[in-house]
Amino acid sequence: MSATIIRNGRVIDPANRRDGVGDLYIENGKIVATKSEVRSPKSEIDEIDASNLIVAPGLIDMHVHLREPGFAHKETIESGARAAAAGGFTTIVCMPNTSPPADNPSTIAWINDRAVKTAGVNVLPTGAISRNLAGEDLAPIGSLAQAGVVAITDDGHCVQNHELMRRGVEYARMVGLPVLDHCQDYDLVGSGVVHEGYWSTLLGLPGWPAAGEEAIVMRNILLAELCDHHIHCQHVSSAGSVRLIREARARGLKISGEVCPHHIALTDEAIQNFDTSYKMNPPLRSQAHVDALLQGIADGTLSILASDHAPHADFEKEVEFDAAPFGIVGLETELGLFLDLLVHKHHKIDTVRLIEMYTVEPARLLQVDAGTLSAGAAADITLIDPTMEWTVDIHQFQSASRNSPFDGWKLRGRAVRTIVDGKTVWRL
Ligand SMILES: [Zn+2]
Repeated sequence: MSATIIRNGRVIDPANRRDGVGDLYIENGKIVATKSEVRSPKSEIDEIDASNLIVAPGLIDMHVHLREPGFAHKETIESGARAAAAGGFTTIVCMPNTSPPADNPSTIAWINDRAVKTAGVNVLPTGAISRNLAGEDLAPIGSLAQAGVVAITDDGHCVQNHELMRRGVEYARMVGLPVLDHCQDYDLVGSGVVHEGYWSTLLGLPGWPAAGEEAIVMRNILLAELCDHHIHCQHVSSAGSVRLIREARARGLKISGEVCPHHIALTDEAIQNFDTSYKMNPPLRSQAHVDALLQGIADGTLSILASDHAPHADFEKEVEFDAAPFGIVGLETELGLFLDLLVHKHHKIDTVRLIEMYTVEPARLLQVDAGTLSAGAAADITLIDPTMEWTVDIHQFQSASRNSPFDGWKLRGRAVRTIVDGKTVWRL
């Protein structure tokens, strides 16, 4: 027997509509409803003082690249899980663009085994929609479901053939998996590396037009309706995508969208010094797009927050802009950025909604047992200091990579302790 009492925190549990100062009881890795149900002898009960802290269900990041198998020099499942814990995340969902790609049950089994042996947080794998993420024929979606994936996605790539995508969505519906999609029309985007607009023209960099995302969001809305099945648009970056998703949700369609912090923290103006830590896919866009994303978060159109944590080694990013890989690390800065920008600076949502977008919303979409402080649930808990001021220092990252544009940023709000199955896995 082992037990812990977390005392005097502001317990925010959106799944149970709980928000108030109180205590939280844990025994043998599970949440216990009341003190009288704690059976451990008093001498064996640990106490954590959570005064002035938020006690939240363990946060879920449903968009993470862990790079294993295949690219362990960028990140391993172990180092990525450490970064997650340091960012306040108890559950992360990893993308299938590894080497070999996660388009088959044995790679999923390998990831699950590796996660059990090395990761301090829960790692939930996704499987590919198409074999080798090539968009030519379907991956064995039924076997992937049996192997335990929580969703299918070709993230990093996008199935261009609408008929193949339709069959993927129908297959996913049959086996009860949501479909996540990286929305990029290859013909419209071409070799684009930055948002098509003022800065791409001025700098002479190939443009990535917003319509390149919106065309696929539109396709996904049509297929969600046709197949009556959920499609989730990953890392939404454009005003047109927000408008399309808003209209489709108003019609009751099974469509959703997520936002990454860099798409609201930065605009394409940041690329003028050709610094590759501002190169991501989809790209940073103009202020009008940022404003539309903020509005989409405020009115519930965009319902999930995620990092698109994409580690790359220095030597890979330290090349000319066109040649550098897309993406930045995000697990250790996303909570601070979203609290600082959405809650403190722009007042778009309150802390309760922010926690809901990191817990209830992704748990419901993925149908996983997480994101709640209900009695009997796994004691996955994040303690958050919502107003702590801190400065991002990439050299303090637990991630194996340092590719972040936020080094030196002063933020308000940070996770201070991360608990998985009742055990502290990280503490500030
Ligand atoms: Zn992507």
